[in-house]
Amino acid sequence: MTRHVVAFDLDDTLYTEMDYVRSGYRTVAKALSEASGVDARELFNLILTNRPLGFEAALERIKGTPAQGMFTIDSMVEMYRAHTPDIQLRPGAHETLEALRRRGAVLVLITDGSTRHQRAKIKALGLEEFFAPEAILISEETGGDKTSLVPWQLSEERFGVPGTLFTYVGDNLSKDFLLPNMRGWQTVMLRDCTSSNVFPQHPSAWPATNRPQLTIDNLSTLI
Ligand SMILES: [Mg+2]
Repeated sequence: MTRHVVAFDLDDTLYTEMDYVRSGYRTVAKALSEASGVDARELFNLILTNRPLGFEAALERIKGTPAQGMFTIDSMVEMYRAHTPDIQLRPGAHETLEALRRRGAVLVLITDGSTRHQRAKIKALGLEEFFAPEAILISEETGGDKTSLVPWQLSEERFGVPGTLFTYVGDNLSKDFLLPNMRGWQTVMLRDCTSSNVFPQHPSAWPATNRPQLTIDNLSTLI
């Protein structure tokens, strides 16, 4: 039987990245609200609608309250970065990972970002249940992001035997498919059906080399 390694992207593939952003903004809004007495919902909306200058807008709003001078942009950014995310797997993600595992596929996570952020998301989503420690490849930890050979070669070295079929499932046309396409992997893009992705998808704007071989609307299609 062919050995199958299925590697997944994290942000905007297994969960919706804007949910992480909102979750961070909620944490900051709550802290400012508790100190200032200004409604947390109002502060959250200010931060969200004024991004990327949302924290500045919130600081302006709490001027003249007891919280004035208690917060800086830096302290708010730190609160955001350190927060415990309140996020969920996308529809179909849990059952897909379960079904692939049951079928004997090796599951790998290839994600770009900092250890602190990506580890917090992985924990909040319960992904350690599906991905072995050596199968979690975070760019800050491996020393190479998806535009380098590092995560692709590492996956092949760690999990490949002759004849292994490799698949990468992602969302980002700038970097998720180019290298794996070149290395003979199968590439699958989860379509941004609600236009909620942090990186908008415009497949026609990219050369064929950057595009996936397959596009799906729901992760359960992989089962
Ligand atoms: Mg992504």
